[in-house]
Amino acid sequence: ASAPTLLEVEQVHAHYGKSHVLQGVNLRVADGELVTLLGRNGAGKTTTLKTIAGVIQPTQGQIRFGTEIVSKLATHQVAQRGVCLVPEHRGVFKLLTVEENLMLGQRKQSKWQLDDVYQIFPRLKERRSNGGGQLSGGEQQMLAIGRALMNAPRLLMLDEPVEGLAPVIVEEIVAQLKVIKAAGVSIILVEQNLEVCTQLADRHYIVEQGAIVYEGSNADFLADEAIKDRYLGVG
Ligand code: ATP
Repeated sequence: ASAPTLLEVEQVHAHYGKSHVLQGVNLRVADGELVTLLGRNGAGKTTTLKTIAGVIQPTQGQIRFGTEIVSKLATHQVAQRGVCLVPEHRGVFKLLTVEENLMLGQRKQSKWQLDDVYQIFPRLKERRSNGGGQLSGGEQQMLAIGRALMNAPRLLMLDEPVEGLAPVIVEEIVAQLKVIKAAGVSIILVEQNLEVCTQLADRHYIVEQGAIVYEGSNADFLADEAIKDRYLGVG
């Protein structure tokens, strides 16, 4: 039996001014599932995440989260329902301490409290009194994910979480994301590092010119070198 659908994006279009960036995106994420959104630069991956988060309003189509249509809601209302976007440039407050940054995300009813976050990210515990600006790139990324957890996400959306990080830190973050997934959080991952993607994902989507051009299980994707050549320019 497959898990119930948590997120359903149906025929979603989005514009930046006159530029028609999303041209009918269709995707779904099941409860507890991790899916990637792959595709070349400018394909529309970040725009898809922003549209799901309510940062951008779709000009057509519909987004369902749980049993509710959320595509007309403001971003804070979408966030209240448990959709959390960790943007590419992390948004760590440099003048606040690590712990203050984490507490900014806190929601009382969250099953994720400080100690839970520190258990997943021991480096953040060690650095709890340091300023956000003193952290390495990898630690800032952990802090951004940790703060998102404090906000009790049912769906966590990560935009290039390991970009520019050293391999040993990348491995650490992969292991941490496995723990978060195992705790039942659904995840949409936008990431250029295919090895990271295939270590984590249940399924993959490829976006090209604002539409989904491929959907496949991790096993099918791994077995199909031609897909990587055709859509991603790697292989
Ligand atoms: P990348 O990895 O380069 O971020 P992406 O797949 O995430 O790629 P998007 O950032 O979603 O792509 O961009 C999709 C298209 O929309 C691109 O052509 C981009 O130039 C354009 N675009 C993105 N943000 C804006 C904006 N704020 N205003 C106008 N056009 C934008």
